[in-house]
Amino acid sequence: MTRQPSSGRIEVVCGCMYSGKTEELIRRMRQVEIARQPFRIFTPRLDTRYGSNLVASHTGRKLEAVPVSSIAEILDNVEDVQVVAIDELHFLADSPEAILEGCQQMADHGLRVVVAGLDQNYRAEPFPAMAALLAAADQVDKLFAICVRCGAYATRSQRLIDGRAAPANAPTIVVGGLDLYEARCRVCYEAAR
Ligand code: ADP
Ligand code: ZN
Repeated sequence: MTRQPSSGRIEVVCGCMYSGKTEELIRRMRQVEIARQPFRIFTPRLDTRYGSNLVASHTGRKLEAVPVSSIAEILDNVEDVQVVAIDELHFLADSPEAILEGCQQMADHGLRVVVAGLDQNYRAEPFPAMAALLAAADQVDKLFAICVRCGAYATRSQRLIDGRAAPANAPTIVVGGLDLYEARCRVCYEAAR
């Protein structure tokens, strides 16, 4: 396998819910596939919205993925590839340090590491592992959605419970779609209290 040390890099695709992170990850991996570079997509086991062996965007585009519970499981399963993609990185339960170290290790070994995930939780606080990766990344793309209230660019994920802003003491990780989360701009976003 041709894995050049100089091709090692970390690319981070971030943004709020519905900003097109998974779509972008799928787009990059389709290019990799066309270039005939061996690749593997991983997805945290927690994200069960679309069945475990696929990454699927909200538009329905899909690619095969390997469900994992930890960064160690990813490190054990990249020997034969040149490109590694991790979708929904914010769902990985390991410490931010372990996730950063794992991604750095892969990039240092010449792997192209493409990571997609939420930069902020529903309280508009950074997801620590994503924050660490954003600092370490060779390339960062921050995407936006459209605010469902006013049509402006949205950068925040509003979690709703019965149509109202979820309280600040709710769990940070709750898997859900349009019923639970809305994309909102800075003005329309209602702070969790
Ligand atoms: P992410 O991985 O960032 O959650 P996806 O790639 O899964 O996003 O889905 C992005 C798609 O979601 C968009 O292309 C669009 O079709 C759809 N979508 C639904 N709600 C919105 C919204 N409020 N703003 C933008 N796109 C939206
Ligand atoms: Zn708005």
